[in-house]
Amino acid sequence: MHTVLLSGKERTYRVGKILCVTRNYRAHAAELNNEPPAQPVFFLKPASSIISQGETAVIPPCSRNCQHEVELAVLIGKWGKNIAPETALSHVAGYGIGIDLTLRDLQGDLKAKGLPWSMAKGFDTSCPLSDFVPAAQIPDPQALGLSLYVNDELRQQGNSAEMIHSIPDLISAASAIFSLEEGDILLTGTPAGVGPLVSGDRLKAQISQLGTLVIDIR
Ligand code: ZN
Repeated sequence: MHTVLLSGKERTYRVGKILCVTRNYRAHAAELNNEPPAQPVFFLKPASSIISQGETAVIPPCSRNCQHEVELAVLIGKWGKNIAPETALSHVAGYGIGIDLTLRDLQGDLKAKGLPWSMAKGFDTSCPLSDFVPAAQIPDPQALGLSLYVNDELRQQGNSAEMIHSIPDLISAASAIFSLEEGDILLTGTPAGVGPLVSGDRLKAQISQLGTLVIDIR
């Protein structure tokens, strides 16, 4: 069973599904030579991919290019389907820091063959998550600075204000296809600066008002 903690409330949530959105920051879409889609495109990571603060992510031996993507993570607090953007934020229990680890080489091979790329995104340890901060403490989730350091070197920097599809729009679009349940997590896309990791690296992901998430790579 995989759980996350909503700090302050000291409440744990059992994680159901992790919904991730592709290309939600223009500069990141451009760095991978992708056109950002008009409608959000989602993929899933299994709950078994979660690791926590201070744990170690293990790159599967089949990959030579595991990359980091720092993302604002949204914890869903109540069930909903076909949620309107206007009421979407009432479904949010809290915000946290996520890292969407991606086997870019495997993803590229699978995409080129038109095959699903779940293996490149959902492998064990591919979803480091911090504890979550109650939504009531974050007045504007679209004004949070994101940064990611590898061995204390700044690699990614952005702001949630730069999202192409806002958090309410993402919740609304996702809930048209997937019922959102208590404990589901939405990863909202990554700013530019993604890059490869090697064994021994230490990742430090920071989001303003949410703290710091540190993990090691092996
Ligand atoms: Zn991502």
